[in-house]
Amino acid sequence: MHTDMNAALQRKLIEAVTGTVIAHTDELTVLDQAIGDGDHGLNMRRGASAVVNQLDDLAAKPLPEALKTVGLTLVMKVGGASGPLYGTLFTTLGKELPASPSHDDVVRAMGSAIAAVKKIGRSDVGQKTMLDVLSPVHAELATGGAGLHDRLRQRAAAAADDTVPMKAIKGRASFLGERSIGHMDPGARSSSLIIAAICTAMEE
Ligand code: ADP
Ligand code: MG
Repeated sequence: MHTDMNAALQRKLIEAVTGTVIAHTDELTVLDQAIGDGDHGLNMRRGASAVVNQLDDLAAKPLPEALKTVGLTLVMKVGGASGPLYGTLFTTLGKELPASPSHDDVVRAMGSAIAAVKKIGRSDVGQKTMLDVLSPVHAELATGGAGLHDRLRQRAAAAADDTVPMKAIKGRASFLGERSIGHMDPGARSSSLIIAAICTAMEE
């Protein structure tokens, strides 16, 4: 089954993802204040605003070009550690996905995008980062089947919750060592918000 990408769907996806990031700015700020420097909410809001400002242009582009532009915008606007990482994620999806991707195309492209994030972050699963949401969501995606969007949303939320008892090994939160335990990773939360928004927009 192929997803028939079109301007209306791309517009809906961009509005959903940027809308949820902007709506959750304060929550992301509070999470990053606990184990980081408190800028993740504003970093992500700045990136989301810059993306939604290009809504007409992005909706009209073929999917791969739209994703590459989103990635470049995030690299330029988000800043912090998360800017280059999310930028790499979206840019790689743009490089790997065809204009009308099949489910298998999406699984493969997301695998490549996660691998690219690991490489640039010199990070891996289990270190209390966005990868602890992206990777389990990718595994769930690969299983395919009925009720996938619902399962992906639940997997993303559960995976973000699962970062609470983890000890941070990468990023600013790692400076806290044991004291990073007991807080949700802000990047894991932003990733789960983005996944949930994509799933909801895809099923409407
Ligand atoms: P900064 O840490 O520079 O202030 P942000 O606050 O915007 O940047 O983003 C922090 C988030 O980035 C963390 O919660 C974590 O999920 C993610 N992150 C940080 N370093 C890495 C890394 N090396 N690999 C993967 N994700 C990382
Ligand atoms: Mg921060």
